[in-house]
Amino acid sequence: MPELPEVETSRRGIAPHLENQRISGVVIRQPKLRWEIPQLQRILPGLKITSVQRRAKYLLIACSEGNHHKGTLIMHLGMSGSLRVVPSDTPPLKHDHFDLQLGRQCLRLRDPRRFGAILWTETSAQQHPLIASLGPEPLSDEFNAAYLLAQAKRRKVPIKQLLMDGKVVVGVGNIYATESLFLSGIHPSRACNRIAKGRLERLVENVKITLAYAIERGGTTLRDFQQQDGKPGYFQQELLVYGREGEACKACGTIIRAKQIGQRTSSYCPACQR
Ligand SMILES: [Zn+2]
Repeated sequence: MPELPEVETSRRGIAPHLENQRISGVVIRQPKLRWEIPQLQRILPGLKITSVQRRAKYLLIACSEGNHHKGTLIMHLGMSGSLRVVPSDTPPLKHDHFDLQLGRQCLRLRDPRRFGAILWTETSAQQHPLIASLGPEPLSDEFNAAYLLAQAKRRKVPIKQLLMDGKVVVGVGNIYATESLFLSGIHPSRACNRIAKGRLERLVENVKITLAYAIERGGTTLRDFQQQDGKPGYFQQELLVYGREGEACKACGTIIRAKQIGQRTSSYCPACQR
């Protein structure tokens, strides 16, 4: 599933090809993804793309008409979506459901499982119902120790569940929550209201480091967005605890364990994490 680093990598890969380009056409081969794709063929041709931004795992493609902001195309990659920029005459493959044509190039969405989304809004994208109630971005200054402490004090859920709650902070998926907790020496099922401020401070730092590092690594595959087989970059060989249950902890040699927390598998080192 594309996580925040993959979406940010996609954004950085496609933005230079989209910004300041005029939309020449729209091809919808499969109208039903997670929701019905709106009739964009009637709306988008002729509009100019002014920016490609990201909020949580949504890509926000702002479009203008003349000097006026016209609306924003909101895209979500769902469970299996990927984007690439290809020459417009590239024959579509089986799961290539949507093209945004920009003259000789097009932005193509492939989404085998069809949990992705393409929406259009003519009011502020930040006010869109899917986006308005989201927590702060993990790499923003708004996500800091004082903020997390205030959130944690009011609740008793396991810290891992708090970290993965998009209303608290967006984009901290299972991999990144698991790795950040290990780096911070915090047991994933520890009640969030019983963690000292200093430890939460370290946790916030490690969430930022883990995500920033993943984005940086994703950056090495940017050239793939020009290719049919473009795949976002993971860094699986470098994971410390995620998916390593039964193996030795890289810090102390203790066998990594796993338990279910909030319906998600959480691996941890019983010696390093308390
Ligand atoms: Zn350990």
